[in-house]
Amino acid sequence: MNASIDTAHIQALDSAHFLHPFTDFKDLQGRGARVISHADGIYVWDSEGHRILDGMSGLWCVNAGYGRRELADAAHQQMMTLPYYNSFFQTTNVPAVQLAAKLASLAPDVGDRSFQHVFYSSSGSESNDSNVRMVRRYWDLLGQPQRKVIISRLNAYHGSTMAGASLGGMSGMHAQGDLPIPNITHIGQPYFFENGLPGESAEEFGVRAAGWLEEKILSVGPDKVAAFIAEPVQGAGGVIIPPDSYWPEIQRIVDKYGILLISDEVICAFGRLGHWFGYEKFGYKPDLVTFAKAITSGYIPLGGVMVGNRVAKVLIEQGGEFNHGYTYSGHPVACAVGLANVALMEREQLPQRVHGDIGAYFAQRFAELNEHPLVTAAETCGFVAGMVLIKDKRAGTRFAEQDAVGMVCRAHCFGSGLVMRAVGDRMIIAPPLTMSRADIDEMMRLIYLALDLTHAELRAKGLA
Ligand SMILES: *Cc1c(COP(=O)(O)O)cnc(C)c1O
Repeated sequence: MNASIDTAHIQALDSAHFLHPFTDFKDLQGRGARVISHADGIYVWDSEGHRILDGMSGLWCVNAGYGRRELADAAHQQMMTLPYYNSFFQTTNVPAVQLAAKLASLAPDVGDRSFQHVFYSSSGSESNDSNVRMVRRYWDLLGQPQRKVIISRLNAYHGSTMAGASLGGMSGMHAQGDLPIPNITHIGQPYFFENGLPGESAEEFGVRAAGWLEEKILSVGPDKVAAFIAEPVQGAGGVIIPPDSYWPEIQRIVDKYGILLISDEVICAFGRLGHWFGYEKFGYKPDLVTFAKAITSGYIPLGGVMVGNRVAKVLIEQGGEFNHGYTYSGHPVACAVGLANVALMEREQLPQRVHGDIGAYFAQRFAELNEHPLVTAAETCGFVAGMVLIKDKRAGTRFAEQDAVGMVCRAHCFGSGLVMRAVGDRMIIAPPLTMSRADIDEMMRLIYLALDLTHAELRAKGLA
């Protein structure tokens, strides 16, 4: 299958012409990128013939696994029927309408928030830009144009456009490009392992961490705050799973001050947490829900915002043009693939199996990692999971940043035939939702192998 790929040639062309995202260009030129040539099920192969279990579902998106013919067929069929038409000038297309109606039927009503409307984009970043525009338009229409400030969290990931990166709480991203843009501010993240106080329970910490939102609202001025944006579980920040007490307290606070709640579910929707949408897992009531990634299982770019009726009502009833949209808003091919992907997920009950016994099995196996001498705080939430690599478990001593322990472990994962991602001293994983028990066992075998090799290397260097 790979006979036709000349790895060295592709790597040379890659170095010569392709500037990769989130990459140290100089460093990559010295190495040559790994060429991924094909994929099937839960595995990808590189051009040298190595088979790698994809524990990250691509970038948290290939929820249905690779090689799903019906998604390719849906794209092919739609391309031959209507490959493109815009929806700017009072026109529409069948897949975009059908998918919007389908999403409205999947998103459960929560109290006075029901989700009947969808605004489309092609990515998570664009969707969050749309959120900023929509939230400010909403308050303008309500005669409160001074409500401009959007509160987010440190270490959040909301994309890489100017607004997306500003909403995100990644200091490295803010440092390049004069970010954040005005009227975006951040509070701490609900990371108990790092921010919990001695003697404080996770539940106590969750309430305290949510309290940072109220403090921020009061310091900004409650009449100036437009919205709070957060991921149900912080993904790219390292799979930070909030204590159960966190989201109810956040809900109480946003309700008290009347500010909009944006749930960025680019990772957490479409079965990842065992539900169609992430807010169902934690039982809160967002006004806007950002989606992208797994809506098409990553087979084609598509994103958007589920607009709850509190916001939609104002935008629709007040009238006036919303001066915002994208060439590819409601792209017929992307929406056709989205429809096919949702149908596949319904038929195979992917959210239900993550919610049910397969998710429970993953949780149990992953928690066993806490017995490993290098691991602490290993836990899952649906089909995302994270653990901390720890230097001295008994003393609770963490590795120093320059030990780059995550990078050491990530290299051993690749070497062992597993994709797992490193975020500082955390190792994180988000496997395809199609995994069987045997697949989970195989993934765990590879995780243990990589951890043992990492431990051996760290000991040889005198670091563990
Ligand atoms: C990936 C991600 C985004 C950005 O999506 P892109 O499609 O890369 O623009 C936004 N929010 C969250 C939570 C994400 O994980």
